[in-house]
Amino acid sequence: MRFFDLHCDTITELHKRKGSLAKNDGHISLDRASYLTEYVQDYAIFIPDEYRGKAAVDYFDSVYAYYKNEMSINGISEYADRKNTRFKSILSVEGGAGLGGTIDGLHHLADCCVKLITITWNGRNELASGCFDEEDIGLTFFGKEAIKEMEKLRIAADVSHLSVKGFYDLADIAEKPFMASHSCIDIVDNYKAKHRNLTKEQVKIIAEHKGVIGINLWEKLLGNEDNSSAAVLRHMSEIIDVGGEDIVAMGTDFDGCDINPDLAGIEKIQSLHDYLSRHGFDEKLLDKIFFSNADRFFTNLLFTK
Ligand SMILES: [Zn+2]
Repeated sequence: MRFFDLHCDTITELHKRKGSLAKNDGHISLDRASYLTEYVQDYAIFIPDEYRGKAAVDYFDSVYAYYKNEMSINGISEYADRKNTRFKSILSVEGGAGLGGTIDGLHHLADCCVKLITITWNGRNELASGCFDEEDIGLTFFGKEAIKEMEKLRIAADVSHLSVKGFYDLADIAEKPFMASHSCIDIVDNYKAKHRNLTKEQVKIIAEHKGVIGINLWEKLLGNEDNSSAAVLRHMSEIIDVGGEDIVAMGTDFDGCDINPDLAGIEKIQSLHDYLSRHGFDEKLLDKIFFSNADRFFTNLLFTK
């Protein structure tokens, strides 16, 4: 099978632990991905909420150097280069703090081939309020400026972790499709899920903007149960009901959250695929979910006129 994953924290974790992408005991290593016939992974450089301004940029640069080295030694090509390698990567930044609060900082990220920016993490940054900010100020003036410039630079906006007002501000000004790289829908009742999952109305708006939603495998967002695949099926079915088949994708959040052992690792994706297949998803829909919806989004972003 082929697989396109819109979010993982693997490179940030490996940087911390000085680990190797080829082989490690986290959620993603290439030795365990070898069954995939084609594999595009978005690697997020996660900017902790303690870092703002130059500290955030310096931190990005340090993890970026690690990312470049791992891609190079493992022969992984940039998705945007359209080379014929089996494994491809897309670089994203989780937390708009990575801009360091300036448009020049955004251009630096563009120069580093960043294609997706998760506007906030949980707290507030220079661009907007995050989903756990005590006071929701939405997008700042600079945040709106940054979104417009991102569209010119062909960098997509990601609303996962963004506050409610931030979401609506972004939807108001967005002229290009945007996504939620790792979120689920609001059918789960706990504190984290209430803030992190998307409402039905938000799902509809993402669909109207021709966006995609990567399903997050975090137990808290899926709803905690023994069988995570069943929970994924419920979230996907609900999203399809509200927004159609063209918006569902995967955003595993591998190496960034607690995942039930039944899905905790790149080697388990095949079993999720097979579960969904046994429960009524046909091959065409499965390929949309596991690959082509995300692929279409980035093809439009990077290669349309
Ligand atoms: Zn996240």
